[in-house]
Amino acid sequence: MQPHRTARRKTQPITDLVFILGDQLSPSISSLNATSRDDARILMAEVMDEASYVPHHKKKIAFLFSAMRHFAESLRADGWRVDYVRLDDDGNSGSFTGELKRAIERHGADRVLVTEPGEWRVRQDMETWEDETGLPVEILEDDRFLCSHEEFRDWAEDRKALRMEYFYREMRRKTGLLMEGDEPAGGKWNFDAENRKPAKASLFMPKPHCVKPDPVTEEVLTLVVDRFADNFGDLEPFWFAVTVEQAEAARDHFIAEALPDFGDYQDAMLAGEKFLYHSLLSFYINAGLLDPLETCRMAEEAWKAGDAPLNAVEGFIRQIIGWREYVRGIYWLKMPDYLDLNFFDADRPLPDFYWTGETDMACLRAAITQTKEEAYAHHIQRLMITGNFALLAGIDPKAVHEWYLAVYADAYEWVELPNTLGMSQYADGGLLGTKPYAAGGNYISKMSDYCNGCRYDVKQKTGPDACPFNSLYWDFVSRNADKLRGNPRMARVYSTWDRMKDDRKAEYLETAEDFLASLNGE
Ligand SMILES: Cc1cc2nc3c(=O)[nH]c(=O)nc-3n(C[C@H](O)[C@H](O)[C@H](O)COP(=O)(O)OP(=O)(O)OC[C@H]3O[C@@H](n4cnc5c(N)ncnc54)[C@H](O)[C@@H]3O)c2cc1C
Ligand code: SF4
Repeated sequence: MQPHRTARRKTQPITDLVFILGDQLSPSISSLNATSRDDARILMAEVMDEASYVPHHKKKIAFLFSAMRHFAESLRADGWRVDYVRLDDDGNSGSFTGELKRAIERHGADRVLVTEPGEWRVRQDMETWEDETGLPVEILEDDRFLCSHEEFRDWAEDRKALRMEYFYREMRRKTGLLMEGDEPAGGKWNFDAENRKPAKASLFMPKPHCVKPDPVTEEVLTLVVDRFADNFGDLEPFWFAVTVEQAEAARDHFIAEALPDFGDYQDAMLAGEKFLYHSLLSFYINAGLLDPLETCRMAEEAWKAGDAPLNAVEGFIRQIIGWREYVRGIYWLKMPDYLDLNFFDADRPLPDFYWTGETDMACLRAAITQTKEEAYAHHIQRLMITGNFALLAGIDPKAVHEWYLAVYADAYEWVELPNTLGMSQYADGGLLGTKPYAAGGNYISKMSDYCNGCRYDVKQKTGPDACPFNSLYWDFVSRNADKLRGNPRMARVYSTWDRMKDDRKAEYLETAEDFLASLNGE
């Protein structure tokens, strides 16, 4: 089969070849803004290199391919000439470089235009394109982000600590979001203290915005069944939005139905409730279907109109203009060395149950099972259940990183890696966080109802029926004392550990050792 292309204006000379990547599905992406319909031919390509560099969740592959195909159609409808190479098209070379070269052979071009990629790996590839093609390659800034690499470097320079909170204030000032003159709306920059309520099963939970697959998506679903049958996760039911309009409808739904309670229950977890009041917008924002700043402005409008409280809207906006921009800045500041950091020298292999969900620990079972079903878990599940467990158990951070990168539909290395390796595994030694996000069963019991349905007893501290998080926590504290004792935020933890009787300490360490030995049948 030949690549799908339009016949319009076939004879007109092409000057710009514009390569649009799978997470650049934004109608106003900088590479499009730099050319015109008359001068450009657009290339989009489904390539095996990208679909297989980690074993992506089936829903993630289906979402991106379907969203790409819809985006290509919308560009054609808008008058652009588009070459779209499908994964199973004859001659598909399987790589970005190969597809670029083939497109140049088909059409010729005076220059290549591309918006900078999100990932280091792809940027390295792009840097070879001039040599590979003999054409000038213009790599344009991705202005969908508020903070350029240069701006982040300037902010980071000469700072002892790169704290998100201070960066976030800069972004508030820059955008004017939730600002009253020079002061933050409501007199405070951060309302997190109000955002830690545990949820109750009796609360009304909004349903996620679901989209029925159309024929384009159905075709992609068939492709994924054929080509990625052994990948992790359930393909169906498939409910993701795959066009800009559908993603905008999902955003409207979130703002009307869930945003008002987003703040209060941001850290809560409930058995059987996969989504709570979270937005489920990360897939769409990261792929380019939604503009992050516009999304924040719409949330701000909801607050101004009295439809959502300030603690919710501030919390939501902080995740996007704060955390999201900040982790991207860290990624590009610290790559490629960041990938190899392993502060605790953790080297245990990832337990098999991360791929199956088959564990007696009800909290992990719930988080992993819903990850299999939906390619989604909310932040506290990622951080305090799967992440916390891996941290306490001393799992190799690279294996943890590759798992997160594979299993979530919103996962791209620029956002996933700092969250996993930095925030969750503290493998960067505290660049991102002031102390490790390590917690025993008590925290999980307080913030969720998982423990009610667990074979382990969260109140028991040691022994075969004790919640594993309890002994693993003290094992982690003891094991890493030389690295963490000097951290002022860990002072109370170490003073409790130091005061503990030796036989109690030994019981904790023995229980942890027995449990760890049972992982992967050691
Ligand atoms: C170990 C770990 C791995 C993660 N991997 C990813 C990832 O691969 N891709 C990803 O987009 N997010 C990742 N996150 C951040 C966060 O968990 C997800 O953005 C969030 O769960 C997405 O769901 P939501 O859209 O319902 O978010 P909401 O809770 O509704 O938050 C609103 C939006 O804020 C942004 N956001 C929130 N927290 C973060 C954060 N820490 N970093 C960056 N953006 C944030 C997202 O765009 C999100 O859509 C990770 C977090 C952890 C702890
Ligand atoms: S008892 Fe422990 S393992 Fe079981 S659900 Fe609670 S925190 Fe998780």
